[in-house]
Amino acid sequence: MTIDGKAVRGEKQLGVINPATGAVFAQVPECTRAQLDEAMNAAARAFPAWSRDLAQRRRVLQECGAALQARSEGLAPLLTQEQGKPLQKATQEIMGAAMWFQYTAGLEIPVEVLQDDALARIEIRRRPLGVVAAITPWNYPLILAVWKIAPSLLAGNTVVLKPSPFTPINTLVLGEILRDIVPPGVINVVSGGDELGAWMTSHPVPRKLSFTGSVSTGKKVAAAAASDLKRMTLELGGNDPAILLPDVDPKTVATKIFWGAFENCGQICSAIKRVYAHEKQVGPLVEELTTLARSVKVGDGMEAGTQIGPINNEPQFRRVTELVEDAKKRGAKIATGGKRLGERGYFYEPTIVTGISDGVRLVDEEQFGPALPVIPYTDVDDAVRRANATHYGLSGSVWSSDPERATEVASQLECGSAWVNQHLAVAPNVPFGGAKWSGIGVENGPWGLLGFTEIQVVNVARS
Ligand code: NAD
Repeated sequence: MTIDGKAVRGEKQLGVINPATGAVFAQVPECTRAQLDEAMNAAARAFPAWSRDLAQRRRVLQECGAALQARSEGLAPLLTQEQGKPLQKATQEIMGAAMWFQYTAGLEIPVEVLQDDALARIEIRRRPLGVVAAITPWNYPLILAVWKIAPSLLAGNTVVLKPSPFTPINTLVLGEILRDIVPPGVINVVSGGDELGAWMTSHPVPRKLSFTGSVSTGKKVAAAAASDLKRMTLELGGNDPAILLPDVDPKTVATKIFWGAFENCGQICSAIKRVYAHEKQVGPLVEELTTLARSVKVGDGMEAGTQIGPINNEPQFRRVTELVEDAKKRGAKIATGGKRLGERGYFYEPTIVTGISDGVRLVDEEQFGPALPVIPYTDVDDAVRRANATHYGLSGSVWSSDPERATEVASQLECGSAWVNQHLAVAPNVPFGGAKWSGIGVENGPWGLLGFTEIQVVNVARS
């Protein structure tokens, strides 16, 4: 781990499983409560000096990006082994994280002058909050960590970061890399189980919680924040709908829909998790999706040509299996897939489900895996109503040959990102966040940066 600029061992170890084999392939430290206290105290001590010099922070973030990029070749196989994604996608994630550092380094921290006259000068400034406790999930462990630490650090905060126990390795190595660049205590990386996350959110030191994970854990984080009025950003789960308007030819959009759902083995908060297609489109769409699902190469991410890796962990593998089995019992048809692949690891066939509708768990709940339900509708307004009839509200997409009409429909979706003729359009300069239970606040761009600050009004009397 990285605590106060130093490498720190755990008193106990935690095994990390390679989802392609189902076997433990590495051990990482399990942080004790005393070590967490050290990390929090180190971050608090480092805060005053770090928050003073914006130019230094910009320089340091640039260096962090360059250093991460330089290490991408060594890191990518580790990411594939702990997370499961194909090696090329692991490299993309690391390069993306490096790019996020570089982009964030150039953001402005605005000072607005509200009034400047004979009576007063009133400025709106943005102050850092102090120590940020950052907690990440297992689907994009590295890039989601950088989404938190880059803006935290630029704004002048210091950080204690904890990865998921399923994917801690890259984040621990990131700590090693950053340790040589940032002053001691500015970034601390600890690893451990879910309990460590709970210790962090209830710890008296952090003033801000930045959390990405499931809705159920997000609610626990919010409850922990409440007793101390900690600020928080919550990036939570989604159950994204994709609606095909009746005019669109399923053939022209099937590939994009497929990868919108199956990228990263379906383990993306804002992946397409249910498709609403006009009843006339369902047949041809399912045919196209089925062909694609059967043609992609599913396998160990370390093997050349693999397009979809295993599900990351056993509980998630069981969950996807359970939701598909439940759909079968409720009368759904499996157009393709619907079962485990091989005997080792957590591989699951890319699965397309038809003969299903709202009210079945695979449609109503977040599957977060390689199983996609295609649901018929007859009336667009009804499709929108059903798409919105959920506590989730992360993102959604509308597909049509008429972008104007699609935009009009997309704007009716109750979600943070409404996409037209695309899905998963995420970029460093575009805010990303959820409506309803999918989150509080946003990440990325100037809006994400401001979430790591609070307003201070400086009001100077002139008379
Ligand atoms: P999770 O909620 O189980 O775990 C996320 C993190 O929280 C882990 O580091 C875990 O150790 C920690 N944690 C667990 N219990 C905690 C507690 N009581 N207090 C504090 N921390 C605790 O989620 P997961 O299974 O790792 O990730 C999958 C979920 O994340 C999905 O729902 C997915 O949609 C969501 N997600 C959301 C976004 C987004 O940006 N909105 C991005 C990626 C993933």
